[in-house]
Amino acid sequence: MNKFDPATAIQRLDGRDACRGVNPSISDSATFTFPKAHLMTDTFHGETEGYFLYSRHWNPSNLSLCNALAAMEGTEMAWCTGSGLAAITCALLHEVKSGDHIISSMTTYGGTFAFMANYLKKFNVTCSFVNFQNLDAVKAEVAKYPQTKVLYTETMNNPLLRIANIPELAKIAHGIGAKLIVDNTFTPMIFSPYRLGADVVVYSMTKFINGKNDCVAGAICGSAEYINSLIDVNNGTCMLLGPVLDPMRSSSILKNLHTLHIRMQKHSENAMYLAKRFKEVGFKYNYPGLPEHPDYELFKSMMNDGYGFGGMISIDMGTADAASKIMEIMQEKGVGYLAVSLGYFKTLFSNSGKSTSSEVPEDIQKEMGMSEGLIRFSVGLDNDIEATFQLIKESVEESRK
Ligand code: PLP
Repeated sequence: MNKFDPATAIQRLDGRDACRGVNPSISDSATFTFPKAHLMTDTFHGETEGYFLYSRHWNPSNLSLCNALAAMEGTEMAWCTGSGLAAITCALLHEVKSGDHIISSMTTYGGTFAFMANYLKKFNVTCSFVNFQNLDAVKAEVAKYPQTKVLYTETMNNPLLRIANIPELAKIAHGIGAKLIVDNTFTPMIFSPYRLGADVVVYSMTKFINGKNDCVAGAICGSAEYINSLIDVNNGTCMLLGPVLDPMRSSSILKNLHTLHIRMQKHSENAMYLAKRFKEVGFKYNYPGLPEHPDYELFKSMMNDGYGFGGMISIDMGTADAASKIMEIMQEKGVGYLAVSLGYFKTLFSNSGKSTSSEVPEDIQKEMGMSEGLIRFSVGLDNDIEATFQLIKESVEESRK
């Protein structure tokens, strides 16, 4: 277990604005003035500090949020995007050119998988998908593709909740001069991938970080050199593709970020409670916080202290039909909502194979060990989690009648 505390790192920042408002003011401007003409030119060349050029590049509200994100991740800088997928696709595109290769974990969010498997073909960038639990297989793939520029994985993967061995994957990537890019969407604060050796950490802030399901947003965290290269006016992928987050949203996400630590603790506590109760009644469940999970020890070796094992849990109902029936009953009974996404204050559930992983071809779903009856839960902040468990149990029983 690690001693780094992401929440304290955020709390130590002075987030006041020029008027000493406790929340930084919202910077409702697309463009900014300069007192001297040469300062504008110097800012274009990245040679000034404290000046803002244009909101697609930097904006004071975005900077406030990004300072907090960088503190949380232990990175020098961060940059925020209009969606999680924008963060992922920009981070990937920034590393590759025609003829290059990406090696990705076989299990990723479906949109990420589709981008790598289909979209990148347009640019003659190839991608192979490997079981990242098998480090020898990753090493073999790296040997097969010396033109590999990126190893890509989610820390806790979607939807199987396997854990990536970040320190070992970083060694493999760095051995060939490639970068390790990690999506930490499921496990903010629980894991700090950059501190474990990753080069770039990406987030869908739509999920736990914002936690309110009122917007989509993303973030890219890394070294100052890397973030500055993303927003370089001549060659920066973010500056030139323009996926920047709106400052109004940055402002609201920053306020929600300040309660992330409490929410993560409660999501984890509730998911752990459900895992133990599912186990008692004999449901086929999957939760990385119990010792029978294959990555339990690895999880413990990488986790930060105090945030638990996360709010994601799944149960396997065997068939897609059984899963659909149970989810409909659970929604009627008020367990939560039949909806994709995660990290919300209410419990959300979906059948992964038919929703967030439906872009992944069925043969690959099978190869990665994903059952068609898998129900993925993002466990909410329920005050009476035993009552929630009882409703889930009743829903399963009713669906079998
Ligand atoms: N990464 C993971 C693990 C996700 O689950 C998702 C969306 O579900 C994304 C990235 C994409 O994020 P967004 O929907 O904010 O673009």
